[in-house]
Amino acid sequence: MSDLKTKHVEEAKRITAGQKIPLLINGEFVTTQKTFSTIDPTIGEEIAEVCVAGESEVNLAVETAQRSFESWSELPPRERAKYLKKFADVIKDVKDYQIAEILDSGLPRSISSRLSFGSLRRAFEYYAEWCDKITSDVISISSQSFDFTLKEPFGVVAVITSWNVPGMFLGPKVAPALAAGNTVVIKPSEYSPLPAYVFSKIAKEVFPPGVVNVVFGGADTGRFLVSHKDVWVVSFTGGTEIGELIVKQGGIKKYILELGGKSPNIIFEDANLDSAVFMSSIGMFSLSGQMCAASSRIFVHKKIYQDFVERFVNVAKGFSVGDPFDPAVFAGPLISQKQLERVESFVDEGKRAGGRILFGGSRISKTGYFFEPTIFVDVPHNSKLAQEEVFGPVLTIFDFESEDEVVKYANSTKYGLSAAVFTKDISKAIKTAKKLRAGTVWINTYGIIPHNAPWGGYKMSGVGREGGKEGIEELLQIKNVYVQL
Ligand code: NAD
Repeated sequence: MSDLKTKHVEEAKRITAGQKIPLLINGEFVTTQKTFSTIDPTIGEEIAEVCVAGESEVNLAVETAQRSFESWSELPPRERAKYLKKFADVIKDVKDYQIAEILDSGLPRSISSRLSFGSLRRAFEYYAEWCDKITSDVISISSQSFDFTLKEPFGVVAVITSWNVPGMFLGPKVAPALAAGNTVVIKPSEYSPLPAYVFSKIAKEVFPPGVVNVVFGGADTGRFLVSHKDVWVVSFTGGTEIGELIVKQGGIKKYILELGGKSPNIIFEDANLDSAVFMSSIGMFSLSGQMCAASSRIFVHKKIYQDFVERFVNVAKGFSVGDPFDPAVFAGPLISQKQLERVESFVDEGKRAGGRILFGGSRISKTGYFFEPTIFVDVPHNSKLAQEEVFGPVLTIFDFESEDEVVKYANSTKYGLSAAVFTKDISKAIKTAKKLRAGTVWINTYGIIPHNAPWGGYKMSGVGREGGKEGIEELLQIKNVYVQL
């Protein structure tokens, strides 16, 4: 076994203690007969055996969450806040959370520490502070009557997450749900369940039994959870197709859906080119393109197009792809053989549509599922490569002349997750930002998602918001009380 493989396998063994990974139900670890393997995409090998939650385990998890809801939601808000703060305090020293994410999803350490680990801790600290700051309205009706509103938790929230940055989503999903007084059943992606296991070990110590439950499995487990009659909110991060399926399966419930994207990134002729090139490369290649917000369509003004493209290709050539544990690496592997094949099929599609590859386009012949940063030009705007989410390190660069033209093309996909504008003209930047149909627009930077600001999509990129005050308001329902004096 190579040194790389040995290192990864030994780290995984240390985290799992060589045991199969159990579910967390009602504060107890529960094992099942049926299991699946999770694969480390850096080495392409199985690193842990994980228990599958069938219908009966999912039902048990929801029942226990429903039972715990009563006492959890009735705790004085400052008491609930203490639990969230304690969780943030404990998790900050748990290095295994980050290691589990690096092993299981291939997310580079350089990104995991800031994006996931930091985001998880910050979300629990931030929403702990929200527990006692929920206020509502008094509405005057007449001299003899008035209304007041109450903001109340829903009950059991199903949290279903994607495999990319698996450590990050548990923060902005679970922390506001708990702060609002809901209880949760978490189902992480079957491709990267390890961080949720580390999370469950800490949740077991910190929260009262049944408040946080964790189940593992794939589409079937997710379906049992979403369609359960006592689940009233589904907080989902994943692809647009599965998002649509989830709404069909679940029927009438509240949905917070964080879905796919095909983000436009507009570089005007007066932009600071060094910064635009650097931020665009980070925004696209740093997770090997496995980012919902990946800067996958770059629009560059004709006057600076050649210059931008030459510099961008040079940055792509030097982009460090490799072992995600290496602190100098910014791009790890793709998650699976299946994802590698999907990315290759998009590259073939792009070529068939008349696109030219300026750099990349192939697998990197290492152990695991590595793919080169890949730059296309001359791709038609209406082709599949320009319209669909690849979720791999493949982007297209287009030129443009006028603001109207670039806004039209930027808005031309079914997605509306995020966008970016690079220009020194602040008026042009804001006017363009207002015309872009996207939930987030970055000006002269890329990819920053502050924990205290709302995140979410327009169009087929989703509904609802995570983060900030909007993130907790999504998890409260409003009761109106009419009072006759
Ligand atoms: P996916 O949609 O394939 O899976 C997401 C989750 O849904 C997994 O846990 C999976 O097991 C579960 N699932 C699958 N079928 C289900 C069903 N029938 N019922 C219930 N649950 C089911 O997504 P993925 O491949 O894991 O992640 C990549 C996608 O996630 C991309 O489209 C990406 O853009 C999106 N994403 C969006 C955001 C955002 O904030 N908008 C963030 C990260 C990823």
